[in-house]
Amino acid sequence: MIAITSNKTSDERIQEIVQFIEKQGVQAHVSKGEDRTVIGIIGKADPKLAEQLRQMSGVEQVVKISKSYKLASRDFHPADTVINIKGVEIGGEQLVVMGGPCAVETPEQIDEIARLVKAAGGQVLRGGAFKPRTGPYSFQGVGVEGLIMMAEAGKKHGLLTITEVMTPEYVDVCAQYADILQVGTRNMQNFDLLRKLGTIQTPVLLKRGFSSTYDEFLNAAEYILAGGNPNVMLCERGIRTFETYTRNTLDLSAIPVLKQLSHLPVISDPSHGTGRRELVVPMTKASVAAGADGLIIEMHTDPDNSMTGDGVQSLFPEQFANLLVDLEKLAPLLGKKFDTHKEAILT
Ligand code: PEP
Ligand code: MN
Repeated sequence: MIAITSNKTSDERIQEIVQFIEKQGVQAHVSKGEDRTVIGIIGKADPKLAEQLRQMSGVEQVVKISKSYKLASRDFHPADTVINIKGVEIGGEQLVVMGGPCAVETPEQIDEIARLVKAAGGQVLRGGAFKPRTGPYSFQGVGVEGLIMMAEAGKKHGLLTITEVMTPEYVDVCAQYADILQVGTRNMQNFDLLRKLGTIQTPVLLKRGFSSTYDEFLNAAEYILAGGNPNVMLCERGIRTFETYTRNTLDLSAIPVLKQLSHLPVISDPSHGTGRRELVVPMTKASVAAGADGLIIEMHTDPDNSMTGDGVQSLFPEQFANLLVDLEKLAPLLGKKFDTHKEAILT
């Protein structure tokens, strides 16, 4: 249930309404908008509460919300969430490009790729130090050493960093080195991991499970938000369908649907979404046209010899740079800003 106050309702009155709600043993979540404030009510409320709120001065409307997720929904939080990380805003006007290898391999590899991501105009360096591999004998990532290598490369080249965390025990160490923590598709419903991520403030990029509905996806985000971490972005990375030509089917509809249902930033991953290098460029552009706030794209200096199988979907540095030049032209037509020459203001 949400209670919507009028634009004339004072902050003091809103506080009184909140106190009244909390006295009933449920939580009140206030989302201040430009012309109205939404008070979301979480928990099992007394059936009389809706009527009582309707009678209160300052309350304009009371609406029942049937969705199982609350904090992630636009009903509870009408304005877009903008996550500011050291001066880089995600979810606002700025289009954000995260680029880098599937896995961190060596200090030289990640340093050189960071240099190229920065030179092309990207704002975030991606790279996995802990890799969720389908087979137990495949390369599993270089671990904590990789976090250190990536943090150094990010710092040296003025990029934010994003890396995957797979277990609750590694959340703190990953958060110590990276600016954004990625939850992979296979872990979208690892509830212990989500709960742990709710206890910190480090931004989280939550990837959609490859067989998950939007409802399940938003409920997974809700776990992190409910724990107290408001800095969550949603990432469409392709779902499993009957088609085998592509590795996954990038669900472009997810982008506008998630923007409608939720206030959280939406990022697209055309690399895992297609699994084919030649499709990454067109699907990146399509994602921006569909309203994505950012992209996460695999790029490698030597994709044929990359240590995970993801070389086939990694762009060559020149393709990555050319793509970003195209995005610079496209973004303004689609209500976004992107400047390949802008120095990221890392504060
Ligand atoms: C990755 O980003 O390298 C990755 C493993 O992604 P996903 O969880 O989407 O497969
Ligand atoms: Mn990968």
